[in-house]
Amino acid sequence: MPVVVDLRSDTVTRPTPAMRAAIAEAEVGDDAYGEDPTVKALEAEVAELLGHEAALFTPTGSMANQIAIQLLVDPGEELLVDSEAHVVTHEVGAAAVIGGISTRTWPSQGGQLDADLVAAQLRPDGYHAVATRAVGVEQTHNRSGGVVLPLDELRRLRDITSQAGVALHCDGARIWHAHIADGVPLIEYGRLFDTVSVCLSKGLGAPAGSLVIASADRIARARTLRKRMGGTMRQAGILAAAGQHALRHHLAGLADDHARARRLAEALSGFGVVDPARVRTNIVPLDLTKSAADAATLAAGAAEHWLLVSVLGPRFARLVTHHDVDDAGVEHAITVLAGVLGR
Ligand SMILES: *Cc1c(COP(=O)(O)O)cnc(C)c1O
Repeated sequence: MPVVVDLRSDTVTRPTPAMRAAIAEAEVGDDAYGEDPTVKALEAEVAELLGHEAALFTPTGSMANQIAIQLLVDPGEELLVDSEAHVVTHEVGAAAVIGGISTRTWPSQGGQLDADLVAAQLRPDGYHAVATRAVGVEQTHNRSGGVVLPLDELRRLRDITSQAGVALHCDGARIWHAHIADGVPLIEYGRLFDTVSVCLSKGLGAPAGSLVIASADRIARARTLRKRMGGTMRQAGILAAAGQHALRHHLAGLADDHARARRLAEALSGFGVVDPARVRTNIVPLDLTKSAADAATLAAGAAEHWLLVSVLGPRFARLVTHHDVDDAGVEHAITVLAGVLGR
């Protein structure tokens, strides 16, 4: 049977033999009692990486985001985010349903951040106004194709929000990719935000697990919020060990994923579906508005040749490189996609 090249997402990776060995050897305990040494070690390690006092391990990135948002915004108050942000497009209304939080969006600028545009939308607390309590940004920006938000603009946004007394959250599911692409130390990003969420199961290749990072006080409250959402696990060191292994052994390799995404983008740019200059990390968005094939046709044509791609809209498809795709897989993808796009 031919090998499937799965470019749908960087979540499809399987644990490597070395990661499985780390999982097998993990020291564990009941984390609900605070007795899992591997979870505690991972939390301390990630908090330090991002320059914060504490961190909390969660089953998913969505839960990490929702905990962070609830830490910053009370029911009936407002979170302001980009209109294409994961928290408003892919978390099935959790902020409203679980947190009682009102969300408002600024029109997405292709994932680019314009601090002045955000500043103009902040709504002060006042009579009959929903108070903006937090702003959320996404690093890297998923639906815009792994766009990296520049450190300078993030600093400007931090100044603006601090002056307004508004908190700042970073959905850092792929903050690792930004760190590798721009060479910005994780701590430089981390210290700009009141809360950060990170995923270990995206590019880093762990089977599951995310963290919320914040001050010690906030993480103490986060523990209760996690419990309320049913996210407290027991011998979760099994998963934390995979995360520790991923951080040690898979972080630097993200540079290879970025190079492969760039290769895909360059090879497909002749079909007018992607601008390679915009592909800086591991996501290649395909804009099929001017192509003969729509997204479903492209995906079906690819699948005939054991290549899987994501359909995100009628004329919007996406390729994502990751740990389980090598150079040969990328060359196969180029051949197959060129065949379908060139029809
Ligand atoms: C994947 C992702 C998340 C979290 O997703 P889960 O599937 O809940 O782990 C959050 N934000 C962004 C930008 C993501 O891509």
